[in-house]
Amino acid sequence: MFHWLTVSTTRKISSLSFVLLSFLFVVIIYSNYQTQKIYGEMQEVAEIDIPLSEVIADIEILQLKQHLLMEKIRLQGEAFFSNDRLRQEGIKGVDTFSQSLSSLLEKSIGILHSGMTLGSIRINVADHQALIQQIKALHSHRIGFEALFADFVGIGEAHYAVSWNELEKQDDLLDAEAEKLLVNIEQLTMKVAATVEKQERDFMIVNAMLGMSAFAIGGYLTLYTILSFRRKVGSLRGQIESLHRSMSPDTLDQSFRYHGTDELDELEKDLKILMARFSLEKNNRDEVETQLIELATRDKLTGAFNRHKWDEQIKAELALANRGHHFSLILLDVDHFKTINDSHGHDVGDNVLKLLVKILRKRLRETDMLFRIGGEEFAVLLRDTHLDDAHFLAEQLRKKISILDEKNIPIFTISLGVTEYQDFDDQSDIVKRADTLLYQAKGAGRNRVVAG
Ligand code: GH3
Ligand code: MG
Ligand code: MG
Repeated sequence: MFHWLTVSTTRKISSLSFVLLSFLFVVIIYSNYQTQKIYGEMQEVAEIDIPLSEVIADIEILQLKQHLLMEKIRLQGEAFFSNDRLRQEGIKGVDTFSQSLSSLLEKSIGILHSGMTLGSIRINVADHQALIQQIKALHSHRIGFEALFADFVGIGEAHYAVSWNELEKQDDLLDAEAEKLLVNIEQLTMKVAATVEKQERDFMIVNAMLGMSAFAIGGYLTLYTILSFRRKVGSLRGQIESLHRSMSPDTLDQSFRYHGTDELDELEKDLKILMARFSLEKNNRDEVETQLIELATRDKLTGAFNRHKWDEQIKAELALANRGHHFSLILLDVDHFKTINDSHGHDVGDNVLKLLVKILRKRLRETDMLFRIGGEEFAVLLRDTHLDDAHFLAEQLRKKISILDEKNIPIFTISLGVTEYQDFDDQSDIVKRADTLLYQAKGAGRNRVVAG
């Protein structure tokens, strides 16, 4: 089943857009169809209206002519019968009138017939048929008038008054029928035009309603898009602000929102501020982490690496050495340190250790590592260094320490055992070897280096 509420925003917007576009498409097709239809109907109306109006005008002219002719004959009176020329003229006039009326009536019947075959006008079939009947009746009145006139001409002047009266009566009848016909024709054309006009009006109303519906759907779509967009942006900005607050809960009054004129712009700025803050936090954290690592790996008194780091590093160094890297190890111990402590005090002893580390560090390379592995015992790891160089360095260190002349620091010496990595050495192998050499240095009188 289709769950509108659970559908994603993009889906909602795209389906609403699809509905709107389909609706607009239908409206356009419908409008086009209706416009074509109305245009066609108007053409049909014109096809009937114009020729019928022409016929009406012609019949009206014909009626006028007929009036004139009748008036002329009435005025001629007796002379119409005695004068051959006048009679011929009258006969000819009536004949022309009758022929013209007949052809005009035929024409109007033709127009009405063709009107009945046109699509939209068929609704008025009954009206058309009534009109055709009326025209046919007028035809018969015309024939009647023609016959009466022939009688009138043939009857001679003896019965003039009687026949003239009958003829005039028939003429009036013809006139009145023609008049009625004209009114009816006019009414029919008006009716047809009114039907088309009504359809046009209906079309306008439907079109307006469709337009308003499209407007409503479009409005809803726009409103929905704007509201959901604002809601999402607002919620995102709220979350960003809460993040800020959770990072610094003490700044409750401060707003972390950027105020601008565009929502996306505001969101972008909010995010930028947050990102900047994150990166600052990260830097701080990295710094703290480095400090913590330093604290965990360094000896508090001297600053040299501590025992813990030593255990870790010697293992790492051995692992590297197993893969082809070489290293050497120096173990060194302060000679008669206990005596220094005893005769100068523990603090001086501490200072001796600090000074020793300071001097050693100065002489060592970046890659060399110095560890305090016992009270006054130190180890130096020399990466990529062979025994000869390590021995040389150890000798330099020993000499340097032995000639130190620092204020408040007694003269002291160190003994050193130097060895290098040998194949298949493990931690205890190499440490033991260096320790033995250191022990030998002590045994040989201290303040010396034994390498091996
Ligand atoms: P040797 O020449 O044989 O090495 O003799 P030594 O006296 O140096 O060796 P011993 O092991 O007898 O004495 C080491 C002394 O170092 C004992 C201890 O009190 C002292 N010591 C250990 N740690 C510290 C420290 O952090 N500060 C001070 N001042 N003394 C320490
Ligand atoms: Mg010692
Ligand atoms: Mg010792």
